[in-house]
Amino acid sequence: MQVKAPRGTYDILPDQVHKWHYIEEVLKGTAELYGYREVRTPIFEHTELFERGVGESTDIVTKEMYTFSDKSKRSLTLRPEGTASCARAIIEHSLYNGLLPVKWYYTGPMFRYDRPQTGRYRQFHQFGVEAFGSTSPYLDAEVILLLVEILNRLGLSEFELHLNSVGCPSCREEYRHKLIQHITPVKDGLCKDCQVRYQQNPLRVLDCKVATCHEAITGYPTLSEYLCGECRDHYAIVRETLEQNGVKYIHDDNLVRGLDYYTKTAFEVHIPDIGAQSAIGGGGRYDGLVRDCGGPDLPGIGFALGIERLLLAVESLKSSCVRPVGIEAFVTVMDDKYELQAARLVNELRQAGIRTDKDYSGKSARAQMKYAAKLGAYLTLFVGDEEINGDFITIRDMQSKKQEQVARDHITDHVKLLLQNY
Ligand SMILES: [Zn+2]
Ligand SMILES: [Zn+2]
Repeated sequence: MQVKAPRGTYDILPDQVHKWHYIEEVLKGTAELYGYREVRTPIFEHTELFERGVGESTDIVTKEMYTFSDKSKRSLTLRPEGTASCARAIIEHSLYNGLLPVKWYYTGPMFRYDRPQTGRYRQFHQFGVEAFGSTSPYLDAEVILLLVEILNRLGLSEFELHLNSVGCPSCREEYRHKLIQHITPVKDGLCKDCQVRYQQNPLRVLDCKVATCHEAITGYPTLSEYLCGECRDHYAIVRETLEQNGVKYIHDDNLVRGLDYYTKTAFEVHIPDIGAQSAIGGGGRYDGLVRDCGGPDLPGIGFALGIERLLLAVESLKSSCVRPVGIEAFVTVMDDKYELQAARLVNELRQAGIRTDKDYSGKSARAQMKYAAKLGAYLTLFVGDEEINGDFITIRDMQSKKQEQVARDHITDHVKLLLQNY
């Protein structure tokens, strides 16, 4: 029986991977420009970390985690997101005692057992940034400006930035009561999950993915009316800083986060062009997270972007700056007896930094030429009787079809010179 890749996973084949390289370079380059450095955490962690750091009552933890026991009966989970692992690493290495804020970025595969559909996979990829150790609203603005810069550099300037403040535990308390008062009379219209959770955590109803839950609670009071002085000021500075930097945003009262460790700034980015799954990422402040993960009271803010969604958006632009990396030079062997000389030439060119290849299937000279064209080689170099006897190499420009003979000793320099035209 043929074994196929598991449902919800996929191969990124070499003729697609250049797009990934392009996006990853933009992501890393921009984050580093803003002073963020890369962190790499394990793909799996103790299950408990995500229960605490993502939230025991969330869909991610209750329904979507890839959890397994290892041979020592420990419960481990493939990471469903990146922030909890960063918080764990900060605590584990006592980085809260060092230079603050700690500014990190990460990229890699995440895992969620979800119904696969276009742009959504069980192994998917995220890029994220996290800044721990400052409550400054200017840091919130910096993180959002970084996100905006990434989108601009990818050519995705037609995005919508949704922004809100979800307050702090003290101002949310009063709001929670108001919301419960509003929901109670219409609770029969809610989905099963919301009927259970609205008493304890009414904000989760606003967060619910079931559309009828939103319809049931129309006209609900908004959190922005209940923000305390500190949260109000914080939000005003974030907005002012974005405005001063020419960033357009939409204040969105529907943008809430149902978990206690989320505080103040919350944001999401949508790209309308890519359809129903238009949200390509989001983030916010999570001042209670590190404490909930067993660490000190260390504030934090960050965001994550879905790379598959970014790819969809970039592809819909038909971005011409993205093209596959091919070979530059191809060495054609005119006669079997010169294989050794050809191998030396290939090696020399590669050592000089020229992407070079040759045939390994005993093809005729003609077939080798076709092969070189398919590989996208710019130049073909011939090794035959004439060349060996005359101590030169014939070089053919694949586009102009011009040929020239170049002394064997000067070959790498000359090839480099010719490649400057490409
Ligand atoms: Zn507050
Ligand atoms: Zn619901």
